[in-house]
Amino acid sequence: MAIKYINDFEFEGKKVICRFDFNVPLDKDGKITDTTRIDSTLETIKFILEKGASKLILMSHLGRPKGAPEKKYSLEPVASYLADKLGVEVVLTESCLDRGIKTLLTLPETKIILLENLRFHAEEEANDHEFAKRLASYADVYVNDAFGTAHRKHASTYGINAAFKGKALAGFLLQKEIAALDQVLKTPKKPFVAVMGGAKVADKIKIIEELLRSVDSLLIGGAMAYPFLKARGLEVGKSLCSAEDVKLAKAILATGAASKIRLPIDHIVSTNPDSEANTTNNESIPEEMMGLDIGPATLDSYAHTIAGAATILWNGPMGFFEKFNFNKGTFGIAKAIASSKAFSVVGGGDSVAAVNEAGLADQMSHVSTGGGASLEYIENGGSLPGIQALRFGIN
Ligand code: AMP
Repeated sequence: MAIKYINDFEFEGKKVICRFDFNVPLDKDGKITDTTRIDSTLETIKFILEKGASKLILMSHLGRPKGAPEKKYSLEPVASYLADKLGVEVVLTESCLDRGIKTLLTLPETKIILLENLRFHAEEEANDHEFAKRLASYADVYVNDAFGTAHRKHASTYGINAAFKGKALAGFLLQKEIAALDQVLKTPKKPFVAVMGGAKVADKIKIIEELLRSVDSLLIGGAMAYPFLKARGLEVGKSLCSAEDVKLAKAILATGAASKIRLPIDHIVSTNPDSEANTTNNESIPEEMMGLDIGPATLDSYAHTIAGAATILWNGPMGFFEKFNFNKGTFGIAKAIASSKAFSVVGGGDSVAAVNEAGLADQMSHVSTGGGASLEYIENGGSLPGIQALRFGIN
């Protein structure tokens, strides 16, 4: 069944409850340090308001409170930021179950209500039926635009759909994420090149297996490369490399798709992450050293493959990029993708952070707002609980 989008829905006079992902990073004074996630919801909020909705009830989680209120996870900074951006008062409720909400909904002067952090109640993550019903009771229509939490089967992303048959819609952000990821997953223009990095093979084994079905080349970097090199019988010194990951890498290399996998041909190494960087002249890492970035020859060769690609998917840094000495591979890959004419999608927290830090985000075709969600979407061949609930409804 096709997902219903907000584009053609008649919102005039309707009370609309919207699930967003306002899970923004805060500094120790409670100031928002990166507003991207809130900014990416403004298009949907403004659209629904312009279409004449009578009330907008916004809901989200923030951080990882343990099912009880914690001041540091209050959505208060989000309420202030939204009010500022929209030029409308945003009323933050004391709790998402506050008895006063029903009264607020009758006040003509109150247009936007932000429910306090959903995860102050354990029922949210437990997908509790009664809790979902209570949230649903505030509105006539449900909009989900929280791609970052679409892989969670929670009350506000999943259970709530039961109360809105035919009136559960996807917002613009969800629409964009689905379109971009589907283009990579279902109809990738060839050559399709995936770049995978990060720390652990075990975390990404499913996505590697899924991608090997459709990619022409899988360029591996970061600490993820060492188990593959070790599985091929090479020396990896003191690099991050668990026995479990070597076993998984061996199994992948034993399949017919192994010829699509490319591994680093040189490395930036050091005795520890705080020491000076050295470059190896081949794929082996000396016994007393650890690999901390891909080397210049690897970067050149990967950049060349990227330049010839028509579709690119990138997830995970190429090295310990938080340290200046070991960030060249990650920023080099970001630049290579930015200069290519391919349809390019970047997903995953660290690679997105690197692209933003390099100021290259607007040169990518799509930068996903959902790290875990974008990976799971690809792993599962395009299905996530929050999206399936919109597509098929639930009972
Ligand atoms: P992941 O969450 O699996 O994408 O891993 C990201 C983390 O892996 C980042 O914090 C990187 O600094 C780290 N990382 C990537 N390559 C290396 C490496 N060669 N050695 C140590 N850490 C690395």
